[in-house]
Amino acid sequence: EEAKELPKIQRLDESVVNRIAAGEVIQRPVSAVKELVENSLDASSTSISVVVKDGGLKLIQVSDDGHGIRHEDLPILCERHTTSKLSKYEDLQSIKSMGFRGEALASMTYVGHVTVTTITKGQLHGYRVSYRDGMMEHEPKACAAVKGTQIMVENLFYNMIARRKTLQNSADDYTKIVDVLSRFAIHHIDVSFSCRKPFLSLLCYQHGAARADVHSVATSSRLDAIRSVYGLSVARNLIKIEASDNDPSRSVFEMDGFISNSNYVVKKTTMVLFINDRLVECTALKRALEIVYSATLPKASKPFIYMSIILPPEHVDVNVHPTKREVSLLNQEVIIEKIQSLVESMLRNSNDSRTFQEQT
Ligand code: ADP
Ligand code: MG
Repeated sequence: EEAKELPKIQRLDESVVNRIAAGEVIQRPVSAVKELVENSLDASSTSISVVVKDGGLKLIQVSDDGHGIRHEDLPILCERHTTSKLSKYEDLQSIKSMGFRGEALASMTYVGHVTVTTITKGQLHGYRVSYRDGMMEHEPKACAAVKGTQIMVENLFYNMIARRKTLQNSADDYTKIVDVLSRFAIHHIDVSFSCRKPFLSLLCYQHGAARADVHSVATSSRLDAIRSVYGLSVARNLIKIEASDNDPSRSVFEMDGFISNSNYVVKKTTMVLFINDRLVECTALKRALEIVYSATLPKASKPFIYMSIILPPEHVDVNVHPTKREVSLLNQEVIIEKIQSLVESMLRNSNDSRTFQEQT
C-alpha cells in the first residue's frame, strides 16, 4: 500500500539525458558560434567566416580553412564525448586546445540540425553529412569542397519551445555574436575573421547591407587589429601594458594588453580577457579595474581593456563549467592585486601628463 505511493526511480532515456545536457552547453545561439569558432581555431585555421540568419535561430554557418575531418571519423563526429583533443584525464592539466569535452557538436545535433562539409589535405573531394541526435542521418556524400570545414546549424532550439520563444522575444543574439567574434579577432591577430548576415538580394548588396559586421585581416600588429575591429576612437586612446611575476611562492604569470587612457570616455566597460588563450570572464578582475578607473579618472569613465594572461597550465582549472566560460586560477587574489596596482600607476601617469599638457 505504502510502496505504491512512493515515487519510483527510473533510469532516464539516453536521448533525454543528452537533450538536457545539450541545453546547458548551448544556451543561446552565441554559445554555438563560440564553440564552432573555437573548433576552427583548434583546427589551425587562418581564416574563419561566420554567417548568421535570424540571430542564429534560423542559421549559423562557420567556414574555416583548417585541417578538416577525416572521412573515417565522420560516423562518431557528433556523438557525445567524442574528441580528438583529449585521451586521458591527466591530459586536462596541460591541455592547449580550447575544446576537450567532445560535447559541443553533439549538443548542437540534439537542439538543431547540423550539416558538416569537410575536406582533408590531399583529398580530391570532400564529404557532406547531416546529423540529428548525435547520429548521421545518411552515409557521407562526396562533394566539391575547398580547404577546411564548414559547419551549418539550422533551426536551433526547434525542439525547445520555451527557449525559442524567449530568444525570439529578446534582443537578437546577433550583437552578441559580433561581440564574441570581435574579441577573438583582436586576440588571434594572425587569423582573418568575418561575420555577416546572408546576402538577401542584389538590392541590399547595392545598398551595402552585405558588408561584414566584423572584418579583420591577419596582421602582426595588435593595435591595427583593435583599430580595424573597434575603431579609431578606441585604438588611439590606448596604453600598452605588460607585467610578469616569476616568484613561485607568490604567483607565476605573464600579462600583456592595452588599456584605455583618460581621453577615452564611455559608459560601459569592454573587457576582453584571454587566459592561456581562452576567452573567459573574470568578474573579480573586471570589478577591480573598474574601481581603479572610477577612482583615478575625473570623468569616472569606464575602461576598454584587452588583456592576455599566461599562467602555468597546472594553475588553471579549465573544467569548472560546461561552457568553459569561467576558469579558476591559483593565486587569483595576488594576480588581481598586482594587475590592479599596475593599471592604477599607469593611469595616474597618463592622467598627470594630460593635466600637465592642458595647463601649459
Ligand atoms: P571538442 O572540441 O571538445 O573536441 P567538439 O564536439 O567541439 O568537441 O568537436 C568534436 C571533434 O570534431 C573535435 O575534437 C575535432 O576533432 C572535430 N572538429 C570539430 N570541428 C572541427 C573543425 N572545424 N575542423 C576540424 N575538426 C573539427
Ligand atoms: Mg569543440
